[in-house]
Amino acid sequence: MKSKGYKTFFRTLGLILCIILVVGLYVLNIIVSQKGLDLVTDSFELSSSNINGMLSSLISFICILMVLIAHKKGLISAYIFQALNIGFMTTEIIRHHNISTLPGIFNGIVSVVSVTLIYIQLTRSTKMAITDYMTGLMNRRGLVKYIDNKVLDKNQLFLIYLELDNFRVINDNLGHKYGDMILRIVAKRLKNYAGRDVFVSRIGGAEFAVLINSKNDPKEFAGKLVDNLGKNISIKAGDESITINITVYAGISEYPANALEADELLKFADIAIYHARKSKTKKVLFFDKKMKDELSRQIELEKTVKDAIEKNWFYLVYQPQYTLKDKRLRGFETLLRLRLPDGTMISPGEFIPAVEKSEEILEVDQYVLKSALEEGKNLMNTSGRDDILISVNISAKTISSEDFVEKLQKIIFSTGFPTNNLELEITEYSLSDSKAVTANNIKTLRSIGVKIALDDFGTGYTSLGQVLELPIDLLKIDKSLIDDIYEKPVNRDFVDAVIYMGHLMKCEVISEGVESDEQLNFLRDHECDFVQGYIWGKPVPFYDALEICKNT
Ligand code: C2E
Ligand code: MG
Ligand code: MG
Repeated sequence: MKSKGYKTFFRTLGLILCIILVVGLYVLNIIVSQKGLDLVTDSFELSSSNINGMLSSLISFICILMVLIAHKKGLISAYIFQALNIGFMTTEIIRHHNISTLPGIFNGIVSVVSVTLIYIQLTRSTKMAITDYMTGLMNRRGLVKYIDNKVLDKNQLFLIYLELDNFRVINDNLGHKYGDMILRIVAKRLKNYAGRDVFVSRIGGAEFAVLINSKNDPKEFAGKLVDNLGKNISIKAGDESITINITVYAGISEYPANALEADELLKFADIAIYHARKSKTKKVLFFDKKMKDELSRQIELEKTVKDAIEKNWFYLVYQPQYTLKDKRLRGFETLLRLRLPDGTMISPGEFIPAVEKSEEILEVDQYVLKSALEEGKNLMNTSGRDDILISVNISAKTISSEDFVEKLQKIIFSTGFPTNNLELEITEYSLSDSKAVTANNIKTLRSIGVKIALDDFGTGYTSLGQVLELPIDLLKIDKSLIDDIYEKPVNRDFVDAVIYMGHLMKCEVISEGVESDEQLNFLRDHECDFVQGYIWGKPVPFYDALEICKNT
């Protein structure tokens, strides 16, 4: 909004300067033609007709500038000046039979045609810049422009941000051609449903935005859009007719209550969508203060994490894993710790989910891998144990990056860590959007000897089909499942099923978060392979881990 204010100011100033210049040149032109001023020196001779022509050319040039600076207003001003200019020069010819103004008249006519053509081209390219070529709707730029103009009249306004869930899967499975087709169908439905007076735009891959005023109930309106947009979309793929249902989420932000600027309104509505998706029960959510506080905390944590990498506030602790049958040491899971200079500890349960949304997590994972492999190698050399595994947690963003394997190989090479002793823990969530890169990375890692553990198993993100497709070595039963093993018979059955299924899939199974003898006995009875939990060992610093290696 501020930049828009500056823009308007400079445009108006530019136009005024042009007008002053044109008026000056115009007056000069009159004087030259009425007084018949000729410029004659020893070396050259300029007739008044030449001077008139030159001044008219200058006026034409400034008229073009006016159109470029102030578009429509510039065009109108240019028309007025050229009309006056041509009018004056024509009367000169009629009244005084003075044809010195003839070049100026031609110049004026050419100038009117030029500024008109320039204006048409300018309008066309401006329109193209704010239109989404695929759906014909306005694009994000158009939306921002529209909001910034609209909010000037200070009326209440609701921005409904709509997102088609998991659209990447459609593109991956059906191909982009059909993905685009579906987007066009959704755009058409949106336009038809919203009606002529409602501003509708496509602001990203599978994201749309609608602007409504307070005459409509925004929640009801968004609810109807969400219910109808992605339902029963039928397309023809080759000879086959496919019907698809897409889940749509909506986030709503309000002008002026939530924000005064378009970018902020969009950001807040997007945050509301994120919360709707997380809730698993709601598909439409209004942005509220709590979400804003969470966002501030997230921004603060992102900054802290950045500082932590730079200033070495991170360190690793090691939690032992044992065989359940005879309590032999299997290895350690490395867990990240963040201690601020004032001694405050921030739990990874808090900072990891916060930075997982940003690119910062890639750096965190790189830091952890480098430290874990350096220290792990040291641990094995010093204790003389080459039979232990070092298990490192990596985020969804890292496992789905194209260059991850290459980067990891560099770390393995520089630290000299034996690949066969490395295990990477990826979460179930990493597999939930089924990226091809993720699957490729997992396969390549396995082929170079790295083991893959599926962390937090049973939290409900992956389908069995997805797990079966990938070469997983270890299933890690999530702590939440064994927490209530004695209170909830369902959990008992589930854990039993996971162990059974894991073995069928030729995976080994570990349970994390084991705290009691009852849990231990249950897992033993059901032939779980390994155990990790406070009952046999909390996460400890490097030197304590070294002692464990020597004594177990
Ligand atoms: P996770 O990978 O599932 O790690 C297990 C968490 O459970 C750890 O919490 C561990 O200390 C805790 N835990 C293990 N046994 C017990 C037990 O018997 N009782 C209780 N109450 N807790 C137990 P922590 O260290 O706070 O880590 C939390 C989560 O943060 C991890 O869950 C992981 O998702 C993430 N995280 C930790 N370190 C890293 C890391 O280096 N990189 C990445 N990307 N994520 C990490
Ligand atoms: Mg883990
Ligand atoms: Mg876990």
